[in-house]
Amino acid sequence: CGIVGYIGHRDAYPIIIKGLQRLEYRGYDSAGVTLFDGENIHLAKTKGKVEDLKTKAETTIPTKGKLGLGHTRWATHGVPNDVNSHPHYSNSGELVIIHNGIIENYESIKQALIKRGYTFHSDTDTEVLVNLIEEVKKKEGVKLGKAVQIALNQVVGAYAIAVFDKNKPDEIVVAKLGSPLAIGIGDNEYFIASDASPFIEFTNNAVYLEDEEMAIVRIGKEIKMRKIKDDAIA
Ligand code: GLU
Repeated sequence: CGIVGYIGHRDAYPIIIKGLQRLEYRGYDSAGVTLFDGENIHLAKTKGKVEDLKTKAETTIPTKGKLGLGHTRWATHGVPNDVNSHPHYSNSGELVIIHNGIIENYESIKQALIKRGYTFHSDTDTEVLVNLIEEVKKKEGVKLGKAVQIALNQVVGAYAIAVFDKNKPDEIVVAKLGSPLAIGIGDNEYFIASDASPFIEFTNNAVYLEDEEMAIVRIGKEIKMRKIKDDAIA
């Protein structure tokens, strides 16, 4: 399984597809990509190979956008199929997540969210996490970074995640516990990946997140690193 992300001035799609191919050695059963063109979020995902994803994306969505996330899934919760493939949207359609790992206490969180009116389309633990982030964001009236941090403090499990908010086209929030996550720093652009191979030709300046670390990656700004358990996040 693997994750790839891009935010900057280039078209994200080719970087993400090539990056996912380089992460294929990690093993997977499904693949997906989301692209944000500043106005609309486009999403393609499928059971099968990155090559199948490429065909699906190029025939069903505009492969445009300077912000993108890509994922290869190794199913832990929910069978490998198109719906359970990542990325996953939150109920409002404003938040998009990719996740490698397992949310162990997802069932109790899911039940609590259902009581609050949330609906679920997949059988994944990941769709629970993105809706928990949405619920925290609304309830606490906080920004995405803080909402991710609060949500992750309620979660038991392992993860490398990348999330963005449709209302914030210049930002990706990432976090890690257990699964690997690297950020490549370019010139007014950032790359996110499970290892450096997806961005090696663009930059050799990389930051590797430690366990229980998160980062707010925003265009034109330095990366903001935070401890997930630290409550001093801005
Ligand atoms: N637990 C998640 C799922 O089953 C992520 C699996 C992965 O690491 O790819 O969808």
